[in-house]
Amino acid sequence: MGRTNFISGVIAAIALLTSGAACADQIEFTSSGDRNFDAWRSGFAERALAQGRSRTVVQSMLSGLSPDQRVIDADQRQPEFTSPVWDYVTRAVSERRIAEGRQRRAAQAQLFAAIEQRYGVDADIIAGIWAMETNFGGVALTYDAPRALATLAYEGRRRAQFEGFLLALMEMVDRGYAGPNELKSSWAGALGQPQFMPDVFLTTAADWDGDGKRDIWNNEGDVLASIGNYLADRGWRRGEPVFDEVRLPDSFDHALADPNTSRLVSQWAALGIRRRDGGAWTPETSALSAQLFLPAGAQGPALLLYPNFNVIKRYNNSDRYAMGVSLLARGFKGRAGLIAPWPSHLGSLSRDEILELQTLLKSRGYYAGEADGLFGSGTRAAVRGFQQAHAMPADGFPTMRILNQLRGDTAATASQTSTAPASDADAEAPSASAPRAAPRPAARQYPNGPLGRAGIRDLQRTLQRLGFSPGPADGEIGARTRQAIRAFERSVGRRVTGRATGQVLNSAHRALARGD
Ligand code: CA
Repeated sequence: MGRTNFISGVIAAIALLTSGAACADQIEFTSSGDRNFDAWRSGFAERALAQGRSRTVVQSMLSGLSPDQRVIDADQRQPEFTSPVWDYVTRAVSERRIAEGRQRRAAQAQLFAAIEQRYGVDADIIAGIWAMETNFGGVALTYDAPRALATLAYEGRRRAQFEGFLLALMEMVDRGYAGPNELKSSWAGALGQPQFMPDVFLTTAADWDGDGKRDIWNNEGDVLASIGNYLADRGWRRGEPVFDEVRLPDSFDHALADPNTSRLVSQWAALGIRRRDGGAWTPETSALSAQLFLPAGAQGPALLLYPNFNVIKRYNNSDRYAMGVSLLARGFKGRAGLIAPWPSHLGSLSRDEILELQTLLKSRGYYAGEADGLFGSGTRAAVRGFQQAHAMPADGFPTMRILNQLRGDTAATASQTSTAPASDADAEAPSASAPRAAPRPAARQYPNGPLGRAGIRDLQRTLQRLGFSPGPADGEIGARTRQAIRAFERSVGRRVTGRATGQVLNSAHRALARGD
């Protein structure tokens, strides 16, 4: 009992001391003009001191900061289109870039050789990453990392993560690895020519020339050694290839081209797969584990990916990025690029179209994930399921043809069951003037739930034709569009929600077909 009192007394005394210390230590900042930002900054400064960052660094790094609107804009920008893989790769692996890489490899031949020797990583892959990240250091970094990271931490969507980056940035300066005025970054706070986040810098950036600084902004040795160290640390396998282009036998099961299906190269060869250039695999390569990858589906190039391909993806988790790096490295070695042409005639789907594809696949029971407009492994598996059910090559590659087929199937299903209300929530109130057996419009049936941008545009155009005034058909839900939706909902006796959903759009299509 006495002991408990004693302990709580000690705890109280410590708490008092700590809070007293925090008060005395509190750093005063001049206002940024944004009270919310000021409040976040004061709180974060206390957290940084509590984490053991030096008062000098905390004060100097956070003084004079204000939120950077350019960073917020960049963070909220979502491209409507993802460029097709062939456009991305062709741009990334240009003749000009290969020529510049070869010239830089030659000019620094000794440095590259020494770094390859030290880290065991193919120097051409290091050069390929250098090219992809900042075009061999040629891209100007126009943001200050403290301000960019503080803006993203303050914005709050990923506060803990970005406060962590700021703490790491303070530690970099505390340890003397980099000067406080040298911290140039991308808008997202990625530092220097290798584009390291501050936590990666602390664990992985290298001081190649031994001057005490890890100067990944200006010193080529530090830059290239840091990239080499990163790949070595993430499991690069010395002397192994990254990928081989291959030819598939006739009537091959394309469903085997899946990130979750790995086989030994010798097993792939037993299935009839051969190197596209006609060469033979060495015994070492035959013993490697490999995935079959069809970056543009069954009609495009086919690749066997070896473990080092996935190590490149640790740098940037993107298949097309890793392809860009590997193909640049081939070019630097004087080797040819891919032999098979890209099937660019297939076109590619916009974000809205992917969203629609996901929603339709979901309504047909092929997809259980979230419809987010982003093409990932879940969507690939769903497309494959649909292809298998329709006797198509199951490559999982999304095309306009598949989207159109889904649209047609869904419209046909909808018209067969057209006389039954979709659900209680969706049922329109009986209306004397609306004949229940009116012929259904040919317009496609949208699935229930929130609409994507294309659907919102369709809704805006339809409401316009119905005589409501939703504003321009820009695919954005503003006050006018919401008001028009409410007015329309009232006019047909629907529950008034003001929300842009598939139910509302289908209802608007029906109203238009009835001539309301
Ligand atoms: Ca150095």
